[in-house]
Amino acid sequence: MKEIIQTSEARCQDCYRCVRECALKAIALSAGQAKVLDNICVLCGRCVTSCPQGAKRIVDDVNMFFNALKLGEPVVVSVAPSIGCGIGDYSPDEVFGYLRALGVSTIRHTAEGAVQVAHRYKELYDNSSSVTISSCCPAVVNLIEKHYPELIKYLAPIESPMVTHARMLKKEFFNAKVFFLGPCPAKIQEAEDYKKAGLISGVLTFSSLFEKMHKDNYKPEYSQPIDGIIDGGLFPLSGGVLQAAKIEKDKGVVEVSGLEALIELFNYLKNGGNGIKFVEAMACEGGCLMGAGMVSEKTNVWSRREQIQSYLKESVPYQKEFPKPRSYENKTVETHEPTEEEIRAVLKQIGKNTPEDETNCGGCGYKSCREKAIAVCKGQAEVEMCVPYMKEKFRSFANLVVNSTPNGIIVVDRDMLIQEFNPTAMEWFSQGKKFIKGLPLSLFIDPSDFEYVARTNQSILNKRVIYSEYHINVEKNIIPLPEYDLVVGIMRDISEEVRAEAELDMISQATLEKATKVIEENMRVAQEIAGLLGETTAETKATLWEVISLVKKRREQSQCDSR
Ligand code: SF4
Ligand code: SF4
Ligand code: SF4
Repeated sequence: MKEIIQTSEARCQDCYRCVRECALKAIALSAGQAKVLDNICVLCGRCVTSCPQGAKRIVDDVNMFFNALKLGEPVVVSVAPSIGCGIGDYSPDEVFGYLRALGVSTIRHTAEGAVQVAHRYKELYDNSSSVTISSCCPAVVNLIEKHYPELIKYLAPIESPMVTHARMLKKEFFNAKVFFLGPCPAKIQEAEDYKKAGLISGVLTFSSLFEKMHKDNYKPEYSQPIDGIIDGGLFPLSGGVLQAAKIEKDKGVVEVSGLEALIELFNYLKNGGNGIKFVEAMACEGGCLMGAGMVSEKTNVWSRREQIQSYLKESVPYQKEFPKPRSYENKTVETHEPTEEEIRAVLKQIGKNTPEDETNCGGCGYKSCREKAIAVCKGQAEVEMCVPYMKEKFRSFANLVVNSTPNGIIVVDRDMLIQEFNPTAMEWFSQGKKFIKGLPLSLFIDPSDFEYVARTNQSILNKRVIYSEYHINVEKNIIPLPEYDLVVGIMRDISEEVRAEAELDMISQATLEKATKVIEENMRVAQEIAGLLGETTAETKATLWEVISLVKKRREQSQCDSR
C-alpha cells in the first residue's frame, strides 16, 4: 500500500501532538518516531496540519503530473471546488493560468461530477427506506470500511464526484491523462483503485502545486477565468451536499463533519440508533474547504465558505449515465485485544497501581491512562510516553544523584540568592541552618566567583579554594545556566589530597636537607684527598648540586600547581 502520509524522522520531535489530534489514534510511536498506521488511518490529514514541526507530509502524484507534461502527453485537470479560495496568494484564475502555461490542455471543475452525484443522492433519499450515508468523502468511506463495517450497507452505493468526473472527462478526452487537483489526502488513495484502469492518472494537492509555483517563482502573467459550478461547487462546504442535492434538512437529515462527530454518530447507528435518514458526512470539520492540502490565506471557515459560494456562476446539466454504482469492502484488521491483566501490567509500569493513580492528563496524546496502556499492549505506543511518569522518573533520578553525591552542589539565581544546597553543601556550609533557600550566598561563602560567572556567562573550571572557616579545601566548577537565570557550583572536597601533598612536600624537604648534608660531608672528605682526585671531585660536586636544584625546582612547580 502506498505510504501517503510520511513522517520525517529528522524533524519529528516526539511531542505527541499528532497522536492527540488523531481521532483514531492511528499513529504509533516507536523509538521516538511517530509513524502512521495504514490499517487504522483514514487519511483525513489532520496529523499533517497539526504537526508543529512540519514533520509530516502528504505524498501525492505531483511528479507523475510533471512527467506527463514533460513527455508532452495530453493532460486534463479536474479541479476540486475548494479552488474557490485560490491557492495561497494565487487566485483561482491565476492557478488556471499557471496550469495552462505548464501545458495542461483542459481544466475543468470536479463540481461537474458533483452535480451528477447530488442528483443521485436525492433519488436515494426519496426512494430508500433505510439510512443513506454520503460517500463523496473518501476518508468517511475509509472510516466505515476500516472501523464500522456494520454500516457499509448504509453507504451511498455510487462513485464519488472525483471518479464520476474522471469518467465524464475520459468520455470527452479519451486519450488524455486525467489528474485531480484538490485539498484531500484521502483522494490520493481513492484514485489508486482507478489508476490501473487508466481512469485517473494521479492526484495532486493544492499544497504541492503551491510549493512548485513558489519554487518556479511563478509571477502570474496570464490568468484563465473558469467560473465555478452552481450546486456541485457547494460540495466542499459542510451542509453544501444537502443543499446541492436539494434535500431539506429535518430531524432525520443531518450534516456531520469532523471525525470525532462522525465516530459518535456511527457508534449510535452501529448500536441500533434510529431516527436518521440521510447523513451528509465529511471527515474534515467544516468540509473539504478545511482539507489538509488546502493553502489559503483565509484560515476562518466562514470566510472560506463565502469565497467559494461567491465563485459559483455556471450551471451544468444532469447526465443520466452518471454516477456509476460502486461497492465497498470490509477492511477491518483483526487486532489482539489485550486482557485486563496485560493492561494492568502496563499501568503498573507507569506507576498507576490503583484507579486513583490514573490521572488521565492526556499528556501522552491519549484520552486516558487506560487507553494509552491498551495502545502499549498493541505495540502502538511506548511506556515512556507517559509524561508524569517520565517527569517523576527523571526527578527521582536527578534527586538520587544530587542527594547522594559526595560533591557539594550550590545553585544560585542571578541575584546570588540560594536556590539549592544539596545535602553535602548543607553539611559543609549551612552553619547549622535548616532553611537556606532564598538567603544570600554571601551569608555562607564568598560569592565573588559565582558573581563573575553570572556576569560574564563564562564558566570557572577546576579552581582550588580554601574555605578555612569551614576547614575544607575544594576544587570547584561554576557553570552558568543563562536560559534559567541560574548559576550552578559543583565542589569537590580535596582536603585529603591537599593534606597528602603537604606531607609529601615536607618529606621531600627533609630528604633534600639530608642529601645536602651528606654531599657536604662527602665533599669535605673529598677535599682531603684532593691531590688524588683533582678535577673529578669538582665534576662530582657540580653534578650533585645539579640534582638538588632539579628536585627543588620540581617541588616548587608542584606547589604552584596546587595553589
Ligand atoms: S506532531 Fe507528531 S510528527 Fe509532529 S513532531 Fe510531534 S510527534 Fe512528531
Ligand atoms: S491522517 Fe487522520 S487518521 Fe490518519 S493518522 Fe493522520 S490524523 Fe490519524
Ligand atoms: S472532507 Fe473533503 S478534504 Fe476532508 S477528507 Fe473528506 S473529501 Fe477529503
